[in-house]
Amino acid sequence: MASIRTRIQVQGIVQGVGFRPFVHQLARRLGLGGFIQNNSYGVEIEVEGGGEAVGDFLRGLREETPPLARVTGIESSPLNTLGQSDFTIRASEALAGRTALISPDVAVCDDCLAEMFDPSDRRYRYPFINCTNCGPRYTIITDVPYDRDKTSMRVFEMCPACAAEYGDPADRRFHAQPNACPVCGPRVTLLDGAGHPIPLDDPIAGAVEALHKGLVLAVKGLGGFHLAADAADADAVRRLRSHKHREEKPLAVMSTDMESIRTYARTTPEEETVLASIQRPIVLLRARTPSPLAPNVAPDNRYIGAMLAYTPLHHLLLRDFPALVMTSGNLTDEPIAIDNQEAVTRLDGIADYFLVHDRDIYLRTDDSVVRLDGPRPRQIRRSRGFVPVPVFLRRPQPSILALGGELKNTVCLTKQDRAFVSQHVGDLENLLTLEFFDLTIRHLRRILDIEPAALARDLHPEYLSTKVALSQRELQVIGVQHHHAHVVSAMAELGLAGPVIGLACDGTGYGDDGQIWGGEFLRADEAGYERLGHLDYAVLPGGAAAIKEPWRMALSFLDLAFGREALDLDIPFLDRRNPDQVHFIRQVIAKRVNSPLTSSLGRLFDAVAALIGLRDVAAFEGQAAMMLEMACPEGEFDPYDFDVSEIEGRFVVQPQALIRAMVRDLVDGRAREEISGRFHAAVIRALAETTLRISARTGLTTVVLSGGCFQNQVLTRGLIRALETAGLKALTQHLVPVNDGGLSLGQAVCAGARLIGAGR
Ligand SMILES: [Zn+2]
Ligand SMILES: [Zn+2]
Ligand SMILES: [Zn+2]
Repeated sequence: MASIRTRIQVQGIVQGVGFRPFVHQLARRLGLGGFIQNNSYGVEIEVEGGGEAVGDFLRGLREETPPLARVTGIESSPLNTLGQSDFTIRASEALAGRTALISPDVAVCDDCLAEMFDPSDRRYRYPFINCTNCGPRYTIITDVPYDRDKTSMRVFEMCPACAAEYGDPADRRFHAQPNACPVCGPRVTLLDGAGHPIPLDDPIAGAVEALHKGLVLAVKGLGGFHLAADAADADAVRRLRSHKHREEKPLAVMSTDMESIRTYARTTPEEETVLASIQRPIVLLRARTPSPLAPNVAPDNRYIGAMLAYTPLHHLLLRDFPALVMTSGNLTDEPIAIDNQEAVTRLDGIADYFLVHDRDIYLRTDDSVVRLDGPRPRQIRRSRGFVPVPVFLRRPQPSILALGGELKNTVCLTKQDRAFVSQHVGDLENLLTLEFFDLTIRHLRRILDIEPAALARDLHPEYLSTKVALSQRELQVIGVQHHHAHVVSAMAELGLAGPVIGLACDGTGYGDDGQIWGGEFLRADEAGYERLGHLDYAVLPGGAAAIKEPWRMALSFLDLAFGREALDLDIPFLDRRNPDQVHFIRQVIAKRVNSPLTSSLGRLFDAVAALIGLRDVAAFEGQAAMMLEMACPEGEFDPYDFDVSEIEGRFVVQPQALIRAMVRDLVDGRAREEISGRFHAAVIRALAETTLRISARTGLTTVVLSGGCFQNQVLTRGLIRALETAGLKALTQHLVPVNDGGLSLGQAVCAGARLIGAGR
């Protein structure tokens, strides 16, 4: 049979994931000649041989791909035959356009672990063991195409043994760019609290000893430093908390195996699958009581955030411990430290010892956090393991750089039909985070080769991201309303063009009337929205101060429901508060001193949490609302009444009757669990009924839920059930967070749609 020759371009995540050895072996098995090389689009292949074998080759390309590869497109075209019978791997070629997708960082594989614990292996106990199926990627890459000289491994010259593996297409380490061994690769060092190296034959054993003594260890990981402590040792955890100035927020823990996790958490099979996935996120699990963990790891919390070890170094450190606390190596509110010297300086007084190494991290990446919704993980913080995998959009659009919001910031860059949402950047409230924000943008632009056509920003005039956007003149700036961005972020990952009924419920977002929104019913498509309804306005006493102090919101809603008589109520909330403070805040409310109005559902949750005695002052963002959800038992509850009126053509959901009924329950001494249950049922009913009225009026039957309030699963599940029972289609998002971490995606798609619309 006559030979044919075919050129094949493969797009997707095909570099640094063992794709070339896979293709090499496939071609040899089928007796084909030709070559493969990485290029900036992905990989380019030419094969030559019998027509049937070439057909089998194309099928194999789609069906037998290595575990980390993700093929998004295969194009083939015929060529003239050259009579080539051998198959080779060619050196990479840099092209002008760069659309090759970069793999995220991946947990160490079982083969590498088995080698690391084998005393006869040359990498026995070597903490940087890796292969084409595992190891660092995104955090060590400086440029594309993905080759060793474009990573932080370029300073380590491979020894002959490593070089032989690297060059052997039959080896698991063929072209594994971070390939290394104890002879030629990175090394760990233990530093004392002042940053001086401690001469030890086995620095890891020294670190384990420090942990056993109850000390706090800073560990350099994949995307940055962790602070580690023995999770069973309450004194060690207390030291870590007081050093880090993190008194109450739950701390994540890490274990090496599922059996250990099962001793302190109740897991479902689906949760175990996600825990063991190559992304290794922190999964919020139901905590067991009693628990072998110290109670101060996650105080007052029914959930525990746990992850499985994902680097070889973690496996060596954790062998003696069922669980270690592993929390970001930073002071609260600052970005995670990545550089050795930087860590010693910034974590001075926080860590007792530092376990560092000499493989640089180029881009800091926190641990991702997910919570399961049935079988599917929902992102709470999307970072390591998931970035830079794109969200695929329903159509190509002009390239946009979206700057995100203020808290839980991420940025998003789009290219054609792909949206690259960055890792979690953090709260843009200090200089260090702002520097990280800049660096992330520059890095993503370089490795993705994107020249944005426009910038997208939030409407809030005080956000740092707004100031960044307005301080430049090169690019057009498109402002996107906060809650519209939330809704479009969900539409984008769901592939919806709209119009839909967008239900955006969260803490705070700047409204187009200058007030603070957060309980919004929008008729939304990608480019625009109309506000069809909202939660009634209440005074936000003292602005931002009311967000940190939920008791102020409780007074505000009491005032709304009872007016002057608010102070005569016989409820523990008022007995607890200082009368002078109460008087002062009531004046602030009455005169609206420095106090915008807010329609935020998050603030109503805060107010109720304070009223029923869960939390008067929040130790961290969202704490009061989270405690209110924790206090809600499973089961059916009789909902409180909400009134829904129509004012100037908009539906306004009024909580006055609810507050009055709740106060009656408080006066009657009812349990807070029951009140929380009735409150959740009331919010679900009010949101569902208003949505149904909007549906009847507009004819729209698809409802999209987004915004931080929908991290509350009682609310989200209950509302989706209520809407679907009524015959509507109700959807929410999973790939990017419903909280402000997802804003940048919505901004980017909205801005893209406006540019497309303007070009028509
Ligand atoms: Zn491996
Ligand atoms: Zn070596
Ligand atoms: Zn928001």
